Amino acid sequence: MVRNLIVILGDQLSFEISSLEKIQKNDDKILMMEVSNEIEYANHHKKKLVLILSAMRHFADELKKNEFDVTYVEFDKSKENFTKELEHQCKKFNPKTIKITHPSEYRVLKEVEKWEKLLDIPVTILEDTRFFCKIDEFAEWANSRKDLKMENFYQKMRKKYKILIDEKEKPIGGKWNYDIKNRKRLPKNHPKIPLPLICKPDKITQRVITQLKKEFTKHFGDLEPFWFATTKKDALESLDDFIKNRLEFFGPYEDAMKEKEKFLYHSVLSIYLNIGLLNPHDVIQKVLQKKDLPIESIEGFVRQILGWREYVRGIYWHYMPKYNQTNFFNAKNKIPNFYWNGETKMNCMKNCINQTKEEAYAHHIQRLMITGNFALIAGIEPKQICDWYLSVYADAFEWVELPNTHGMILYADGGILGSKPYAASGNYINKMSDYCKNCEYDVKVKNGKNACPFNYLYWNFFLKNQKKLEKNPRLWTVFSTIRNMSEDKKKQIRSDSGKFLKTM
Ligand SMILES: Cc1cc2nc3c(=O)[nH]c(=O)nc-3n(C[C@H](O)[C@H](O)[C@H](O)COP(=O)(O)OP(=O)(O)OC[C@H]3O[C@@H](n4cnc5c(N)ncnc54)[C@H](O)[C@@H]3O)c2cc1C
Ligand code: SF4
Repeated sequence: MVRNLIVILGDQLSFEISSLEKIQKNDDKILMMEVSNEIEYANHHKKKLVLILSAMRHFADELKKNEFDVTYVEFDKSKENFTKELEHQCKKFNPKTIKITHPSEYRVLKEVEKWEKLLDIPVTILEDTRFFCKIDEFAEWANSRKDLKMENFYQKMRKKYKILIDEKEKPIGGKWNYDIKNRKRLPKNHPKIPLPLICKPDKITQRVITQLKKEFTKHFGDLEPFWFATTKKDALESLDDFIKNRLEFFGPYEDAMKEKEKFLYHSVLSIYLNIGLLNPHDVIQKVLQKKDLPIESIEGFVRQILGWREYVRGIYWHYMPKYNQTNFFNAKNKIPNFYWNGETKMNCMKNCINQTKEEAYAHHIQRLMITGNFALIAGIEPKQICDWYLSVYADAFEWVELPNTHGMILYADGGILGSKPYAASGNYINKMSDYCKNCEYDVKVKNGKNACPFNYLYWNFFLKNQKKLEKNPRLWTVFSTIRNMSEDKKKQIRSDSGKFLKTM
């Protein structure tokens, strides 16, 4: 008889996961399951599926090499969902208890919470200790405050973990935040930027690719060339490669965009962090060792992981299940087909979407200021846009995708996460990228057939939502311009926007 049956999920691929902490090799069994519901609940990018399935299979092999007793269930149509498969395995092994680390997504947690009653076996759900901030700790912080600014949370985490902090609890370098130094445009003749580490698919990955080619032809995106790391060893090499080749300029060019540079100085590590191949504590410690690099790069990077990553997770668990139910602007437009096929004349959108199709990756500013900004000002229904982001990126799991999409880009939560909507006109895109020079639209033209759609949609968005937003002090300049705008101009903006939205 098995003492503990330890269930390891596809994003818990780490020897340090809490469910393995007290494992006894002779008495306990590990169960890992590939089930169709997890593969099919979203139109996941094919590269995302290869990443997760291959990393799971590699991790199971590692566990077996370390003499753990592992049952690995490979995908076939009869393996419907975790519960059915677990029921089946429990009949075989008759475990005394079931153990699992807290699932990262609400949907899965609700499924796990039913197991004890359904199977009549005690189930222990353990804290996910990979994160810096516990769910309860975030809730305590959130309940004690009027507003939930990320910056305040981030400073609290810096102090708690003594990261970039001196003996007097003051920030190293004198400032908490070097955001102001993170906004440089990439100069015209900037040398070619080193690409992230390319990992050649091994036999395990190749087998997953062959299986997917047969079974999942309808999923979004390009399956090959597949180059992601699928083991901890290769993910650590990817981290070293980032620190050596790109971290130095991560800070200054964090907000830049360039047509032929898909990754710029970004780390491309979220894909490994989110499934457990990298531990965020280790990543931060390694980055902090680079004391000779500019503070705006070190602090900028730490802020993303210790600040934003932890903060969005906190928001997710604090507000679920209601978080995705709101629609502050009552946005109802349908997501245009070009989000799936890239067929649009808008060069910035075409580039970001085609890159997403190829790589299952876009960096933060592409997600925020191009595809996200467009969805906001075009009034696309939040649920449809959230489903898109959850599907198309290899790092997409609801706990991190939803707050970024529903909250940060769409402001559908009414301002829990952001203090104002991140709407921007073509001017911003032109300032931070080189997309406009190859576009059929003219970024300098505000209205009419050749005008950049971001220009009139931007003003249309604020005109439409004036009542909801005009009291926001951060939008004072926007509404002061609107107050001085002629009725003819407003009419033109509405007419151009109406015509454009009809074509979608
Ligand atoms: C609309 C939208 C949807 C997003 N969906 C996801 C998602 O599904 N999964 C995901 O991991 N990130 C998501 N992000 C956050 C961010 O865009 C990605 O983490 C980042 O682009 C991943 O690339 P990178 O590893 O090169 O990041 P880098 O720019 O190198 O940043 C370093 C790390 O910081 C963390 N990070 C940075 N920004 C954020 C953020 N806003 N929220 C959480 N973590 C952050 C990531 O772990 C990332 O690997 C989303 C952002 C937006 C605007
Ligand atoms: S002109 Fe407008 S649509 Fe074209 S690339 Fe620039 S911002 Fe995008």
